[in-house]
Amino acid sequence: MKQVIFLGAPGSGKGTQAKLLVADCGFNHLSTGDLLRAEVAKESELGLKVKNIMENGELVGDDIVLELLKINCDLTGSQYLFDGFPRNLAQAKALDELVLGGTESVAVYLDLDLDVLLERLVNRRTCGDCGAIYNLVHSAPKVAGTCDKCGGSNLLHRDDDKALAVSKRLAVFKNTITPVLEYYEQKGNLRRIDASQNMDQVLVQMKETLGC
Ligand code: AMP
Repeated sequence: MKQVIFLGAPGSGKGTQAKLLVADCGFNHLSTGDLLRAEVAKESELGLKVKNIMENGELVGDDIVLELLKINCDLTGSQYLFDGFPRNLAQAKALDELVLGGTESVAVYLDLDLDVLLERLVNRRTCGDCGAIYNLVHSAPKVAGTCDKCGGSNLLHRDDDKALAVSKRLAVFKNTITPVLEYYEQKGNLRRIDASQNMDQVLVQMKETLGC
C-alpha cells in the first residue's frame, strides 16, 4: 500500500481530485491547507499566528506545518493522500524521514501552465458548509450563490484566492517546486499528469497511475 503525495500549484486540481479519489478509492485525504484553515477558523493560538501569512499567500514555517501533519497522521493501516505538503525540498525530506519512515510512496504531479492557474484561482468558490469546489467560468453552481451538493448558500471566495495573494502564491510555487520534483524524480517515484484535461479525464489517469 503506497502513500500518495500530491504535487501541483494552487488551483491545479489537487483538492478536487483528492475528494473524488477519497470517494472512489477510500484514501484518507490530508490537506495541510485545510488543517491550517481549521486552526484559523478556531482562532487557536496557532491559527492566530498563521492567519496573516496565509492571507498574504506566503508559506507558513516548515516546523509548524510538519507538527500539524504529524498530529493528524497515523499511517497504521491507512493509505493517505498528502495534499499541499511538501511545498519545498526541506518538507519533502522531512515527510520521508519523519512521517513516512520506510513506507513506500508515489508522488503525483498535476502539471499545468501557470497562466491557466491564475484564471482558475480567481474564479474559484468553495462551499463553506460541505467543501464542494466550483469555478464561476467552467463549473459554476446551477443556481448562482447556492451549492449544488448541499443546498447551502455559503459559497466563499477564499481570501488567498484574490488576485494579489494568488500572484504571490504562484510565485512562491514557481520558486520552490523544481527541487521537489527533482527529489522525487531521483528517487524514481514521480508520476506526471496533464492537469489541463477536464476533471474526469484527470481522474481516469489518476486511477490508472495509482492502480485503484
Ligand atoms: P493550500 O490550501 O494548500 O493552497 O494552502 C493554503 C495556504 O496554507 C498556503 O498558501 C500556505 O500559506 C499555507 N500552507 C499550506 N500547506 C503548507 C505547507 N506545506 N507549508 C507551508 N505553508 C502551507
